[in-house]
Amino acid sequence: MKTIGLIGGMSWESTVSYYKIINTYVKNTLGGLHSAKCVLYSVDFDEIESCQSQGDWDKAGEILAHAAKSLEQAGADFVILCTNTMHKNAEAICNAIKIPFLHIAELTAKELLDNHLSKVGLLGTKYTMEEDFYKSKLIERGLEVVIPSGDEREFVNQVIFKELCLGLKKESSKDGYIKIIDSFKQQGVEAVILGCTEIGMLINQEESSLPIYDTTFIHAIGAAKYALKLYDYDKRSIK
Ligand code: GLU
Repeated sequence: MKTIGLIGGMSWESTVSYYKIINTYVKNTLGGLHSAKCVLYSVDFDEIESCQSQGDWDKAGEILAHAAKSLEQAGADFVILCTNTMHKNAEAICNAIKIPFLHIAELTAKELLDNHLSKVGLLGTKYTMEEDFYKSKLIERGLEVVIPSGDEREFVNQVIFKELCLGLKKESSKDGYIKIIDSFKQQGVEAVILGCTEIGMLINQEESSLPIYDTTFIHAIGAAKYALKLYDYDKRSIK
């Protein structure tokens, strides 16, 4: 089994989900007392969020590159970054290490294409929804990506930073997300990407009018399969 290097803490609430999903998958696959070999580098999210809001992505990249390097030195065989937004710094991370980096949007795109989907809605932070670094990974693989309107994006982003990353789940916020998913459906969207690793804590499949693709789940399962050599990242195929 390969050792998984996780860069977490963005927020730690969703890193807990990664740890649980990865270990559950390994246990269910290998049985008995088996669990995943992991090294976790958990950052202080306040430092990262300050970089985001000040637009200092170079500094964030340095922090995450250092984290990735530390994981490599600690014996990780590959690295995952447990947040969608900070994949804006994917290049800085990849440049700092020699081991593979499993990109969350690439794994998500593969999952969507495997399920023959072509038009998808994207929910995430304002950076993920509005900028190109994330959407381009989907678009260049042939997917059409729809994002919420300006006011809706502001609402989705506020809920992530002011509630979900602090471990708060509000019914009113859940209702707001469900309404946005309903409006995606009216626009001919076939499925919705939960493109923020905390959103899965707020809504589940039963509550959504569209099929949900939770990036936390997809990424964590992809990492567990890769660790067990059931997933070939270079060929993007399951053995
Ligand atoms: N975990 C979130 C994401 O997946 C948001 C926190 C962050 O900005 O990293 O994008």
